Formats: sequence, C-alpha cells, structure tokens
Amino acid sequence: MTARVASSEPPRQTIYTEAMEVFQRAADLIGLDRRVRMELEEPDYEHIFYVTVKLHTRLTPLSASEQSRYKDLPDSELLPDGLEPLLDGSFVFKRRALINANVFMRDGVVRLKGKGLYKVVPGRPERFKAYRVQHNQARGPYKGGTRFHQDVSLDLFKVLAAEMTWKTAIADVPFGGGKGGVKVDPKTLSSEELEALTLRYMYRLKPLIGPNLDIPAPDVGTDGAIMGLLLRQFTDGERERHSLRGVVTGKDTRIGGSEGRVKATGQGLAYCIQEWYADRGSVPAGSSFVLQGFGNVGSNAAEILAGMGSKLLAVNDAGGTIFNPNGIDVADLIAYVYDNPSNLRRTVAGYPKAQQISKNDLWDVDADILIPAALGGEITGPVAERIKVKLVAEGANGPTTPEGDRVLAKRGIELIPDIIGNAGGVTVSYYEWIQNKRMEHWSETEVNGRLEQAIKSNYRIIRDISRNTPRRTATHNSQRYCIGREVDMRTGAMVLALKRIEAHYQLEGFSQ
Ligand code: NAD
Repeated sequence: MTARVASSEPPRQTIYTEAMEVFQRAADLIGLDRRVRMELEEPDYEHIFYVTVKLHTRLTPLSASEQSRYKDLPDSELLPDGLEPLLDGSFVFKRRALINANVFMRDGVVRLKGKGLYKVVPGRPERFKAYRVQHNQARGPYKGGTRFHQDVSLDLFKVLAAEMTWKTAIADVPFGGGKGGVKVDPKTLSSEELEALTLRYMYRLKPLIGPNLDIPAPDVGTDGAIMGLLLRQFTDGERERHSLRGVVTGKDTRIGGSEGRVKATGQGLAYCIQEWYADRGSVPAGSSFVLQGFGNVGSNAAEILAGMGSKLLAVNDAGGTIFNPNGIDVADLIAYVYDNPSNLRRTVAGYPKAQQISKNDLWDVDADILIPAALGGEITGPVAERIKVKLVAEGANGPTTPEGDRVLAKRGIELIPDIIGNAGGVTVSYYEWIQNKRMEHWSETEVNGRLEQAIKSNYRIIRDISRNTPRRTATHNSQRYCIGREVDMRTGAMVLALKRIEAHYQLEGFSQ
C-alpha cells in the first residue's frame, strides 16, 4: 500500500517511478511518516536551463555515398598541428592549419593526405540543454555528480539525484542529493569547446549552488580537469575565493582535491567485497571476477581486487569484450587502455593477451563475482537468468532492473547494492570537502583508513537489517535500524537511508 496523493489516474510509469519502487517498498515496510514520504517522493527543485557555445569550423568525414563525386580531388596539405582530432572521427580546424598549406577544395570538400575526404562545416553557435536537480537537503547540502552525455533527461537526473539522497544517508555523510549536467556528446567537442561549455554551464549554475548549498562532483563524461574549470568559474573575482574551494569535489589533488578520491569508488566496492568474504570467514584471494566497464570505477576496482588476490577473467566495455580463462593481468590491461596513445577510445577491445568474445558471451563466464561498472539497466531478467556467479557487486548506478533483482533473488545470487557498493566516491568527496574547509591535506593512508571503517560499518548495518539481526559491536550499531523481519539487501539499504533521513524531520521538524 502506498501513500501517494489520491488520483483517479494511475501514475505514469517512467524511469523515475520505476527507480522509486524500492523507495516505495521500504517506505511501506517502515511505515515512513506520510509527510516525509511526500517530501522525498519528488525533488525539491528541478532546474532546466540552456547554455550556448560557439563551435569552431570542423572537417567531418564525407558519407560513403558522396565519395565517388570527389575521386579526382587532389590531396590537400594542412599543418597537422592545426587539426585537432575528435573521437567521432572529425577534426576541429584551427587557423594555423593554413600556414604553408596547399588546399584543393570543391563544394566545401577536401581530401586530407592519408586520411580521406572531409566536408568543411563552418563554425556556428550551438545551444545545449542543461540540468541540475536538487532532490533533498534534510541532512545537508545537495551533493551529486555532473554528467556530460547525449542520453540524459530530466527524468534520468531525477533518478540520479534521488539516488544521491539515499547514498549520502547510507554513507552517513552530512549531505543531501543532487545531480546535473549537459545533454552533449563530449566526444564531438574540441578541448577548447568543452572548456567553453563547462564555463558557461557554471556561469548559469552559480546562483543555484555553493559549498554550503549544493556541491557538484565528476560523473560520466566529466573529470578532475572539468572540476578545476568549474571551481575557477565559480570563484573568479570572489573576495574570499579560497574559502569556496569546497564548491566542487573530485578536483586534482594539487588544487584541493583529496588523495584517494580518484580510486575511492573502486576502493569502496573492494572493501564491500572484502567484507562479504569476511562474513563467510574467508578472503577474496583465490576468487575470480567478471567486469563490465573499464573506466574509473571498473579499472580501479579491478586493480584493487587483483591486489587482494582475485583473478579477472573477462571484461566488457563500450568497444568490445575480452576473456582469458587463465586470468587477465590488470596492470597490463590498464597500460593497454590508458597509456597507449593509439587507443583513442580507451577500450579493452583488441587486447592481445585475451580472446575477443561477444558481449552476450560475457554473461556465460563462470566466476565468483560479477561487477557491473558501466551503465544502468544492464542486468535484466534474462541476463540475471544466465549469469554464473555467486555475488553481483554493483559499481555502476542502477545496473540491475527490478526484474533482474527478482531473478537474482530467486536464484540465490547475492547482491551488494549500488547505494553502498559505489558510496566510496561520495564518502571521499566528503573528506575532500572537510579538508577544503579546514585548509588541510590528508595522506592517502588516512583517507583509506577512514573510508574502510565507514564503508564496512555501514555495510554491516545493512547486512544486519537484511537478516534482522540487531547488534551493537565495537564497529557498528544496527539496533535502531532493524525492522523485525528479513528483507533483501537493496531494501535493507533503503531502510537505513530512510530511517536516517526521517530522523531529521522527526527531530528538527518542518520549516514552514
Ligand atoms: P567512465 O566513463 O570512467 O567509464 C565507463 C565505462 O563503461 C567505460 O569503460 C565504457 O567503455 C563503459 N561503457 C560505456 N557504455 C557501455 C556499453 N554500452 N556497454 C558496455 N560498457 C560500456 O565512468 P565511471 O566513472 O567509471 O562510472 C561508471 C558507472 O559508475 C556509472 O554508472 C557511474 O554513474 C557510476 N559511479 C561512478 C562513480 C565515480 O566516482 N566515478 C561514483 C558512483 C557511481
């Protein structure tokens, strides 16, 4: 029974209502205060705005059907330094390309020596849709990533912002939940254009955020360099700009970022997996795992797990899938993906010391652990029926569909849910924010020591809720949170989040 406002129309099913199913379930189970439920069911604020950027002239590959008309077009020689290659195969054209150039153009088409035929697309301003959803701030300032991706929408940011509200509560850091970004494929922009877009995004966002109000961080398509630009744009011209460093987290360590932040999400996931084994009187050494996504989360989790003695058997990413039954050397794979200038798309595809298999075959690999660390919605019902693992440890946000969840439960496959599995990132973001406030810089050992303690104790509370075993030990206390019956781990995590948030409304009351 849900306590939504009565309406004759059933609520429209969206990715948001689907993602909120677990919220509704946990809210029912604990009899969440009706008004708190309404506060959490929809975000506090949904900001949609637009940013404009001047795009430079670019050369885009000519379509195959048009190629025959330009067979006789001679090669043009342009200064290579003046052509910036983009990941979508185009080149951004800079004026210096014309120094000592030899250009033959017909209908705006040129043939670049050794590269083929390209159409000149003149520079023009372009408008991009931008978002910031501020879901809830009962426990502290809104907190959540900035995504630059072509497939974003208001509904998606609502899902991700709400997930941040649950995650910050589970990690027990004094933040609420937010998320935002721009609908753009960053692969189609030059570095200068991406910088302009980032600065303009912050120009528009500035009135809505601040170090004690809403604190963005990196997410898909953004990184520490982008955070540096956001920081500068926010603090430019401010009299006390150094006190504002905590307005974004995930910065480079040289400008106020925290040691351990880049690896933190993978590190937190590895601590959860270690705790899962410890609960069974065992350790990850000797186990094996399969991975989807070899970006920040996936590659770091893989490196740390390999350091714990676990063997990587297969990896799938946007470019392809690789498999080696004898194990893949993670350090060597990282070098292949990240230290290899010809691997422009940073993919595991083509890695020579493994077989190339299809994505479909990934799910058939026999291993102890599956780590989804790429996109949402990948572990569907049919995928959950196929996989041959004991544990799914979620690094990505929302990788398992509700149907996937039901199948995993039916098959007895255990789950480390995303809201604790990938909470390491936001936990170390909190450490970064404190360090910025105090003008301190902690060592990586100190950061990881705090992270391990925080992740493992919150993980233990969720496990106790799930098994209904209230306990107070030297490291954790689950007595306040158990609900008198057993629940699955995902529901248990949500119960913890809701009880921690509800306490703020109960003890502080509602502002009028
Ligand atoms: P990333 O951009 O560094 O890496 C993404 C990886 O996913 C890449 O290897 C890419 O090739 C792969 N990928 C993309 N599309 C794919 C597809 N269709 N099929 C298979 N693989 C595909 O991103 P990241 O920071 O590692 O984030 C990964 C996931 O973890 C996201 O869901 C993100 O929201 C979540 N997450 C990240 C952090 C963090 O601190 N980075 C924190 C919490 C959650």
